[in-house]
Amino acid sequence: MKKSLIVANWKMNPQELKEAKNIALASDFKNVVICSPFVFLREIKKTIKNAKIGGQNCFYEKLVGPFTGEVSAKMLKDVGCDYVILGHSERREIFKENHEEIKKKIKAALAAKITPIVCIGEDEGTKNGGETIKKQIFGSIDKSFLSKIIIAYEPVFAIGTGKPCLPDLAEKRRVFIKSTLSKIGKKGESLPILYGGSVNSKNAIKYTQEAGFDGILVGGASLKKEEFKKILSKA
Ligand code: PEP
Repeated sequence: MKKSLIVANWKMNPQELKEAKNIALASDFKNVVICSPFVFLREIKKTIKNAKIGGQNCFYEKLVGPFTGEVSAKMLKDVGCDYVILGHSERREIFKENHEEIKKKIKAALAAKITPIVCIGEDEGTKNGGETIKKQIFGSIDKSFLSKIIIAYEPVFAIGTGKPCLPDLAEKRRVFIKSTLSKIGKKGESLPILYGGSVNSKNAIKYTQEAGFDGILVGGASLKKEEFKKILSKA
């Protein structure tokens, strides 16, 4: 059985470093990446042996400069990140990130030798979810990115709602994403695809072993130490 990649997206949690380190200890980091708020990254990396860490965003400008509030991909790399989540639906929605910006961020992350985990997914109101997904893929994925990135399929209606996408539909979307990526280039067919959206210890296995995903992106449940441990033992 292939090993799934499990990515924890802590979002803007927890409040304190002590708690962050305690939750991170749920992971063995063999196939787990913790994407914590920027402020905890260095300390997690420093204090936990083998920790694999990632950012939840980065800016697209590569050099230092007058970009108040931003963090570059190179800065993430320097604190030990090997991954960065880009294009999360919360960033698209709250911070109005568009395809072009996401594309530039992917480019910057790759230049810093960080693997981008690029989130795509339709929202419930979109009758034709496939069209949304196509726009996201064609708008932000360049042929030169293929084989260097990870895709996370995260239907917006499933994020943080406790209402996961049914594994059947998720599988259909996975196949659709693969075929859409293959129109950009042959290597698109073999990009790893994760599922994210209300994953818990009961349903994790459905995505990794039934719906054919290469792993999962876990939000809320990754902050509950015991629940996350159960996910790791099953997925
Ligand atoms: C996420 O924010 O990427 C996510 C998948 O959240 P949750 O697991 O809480 O739905």
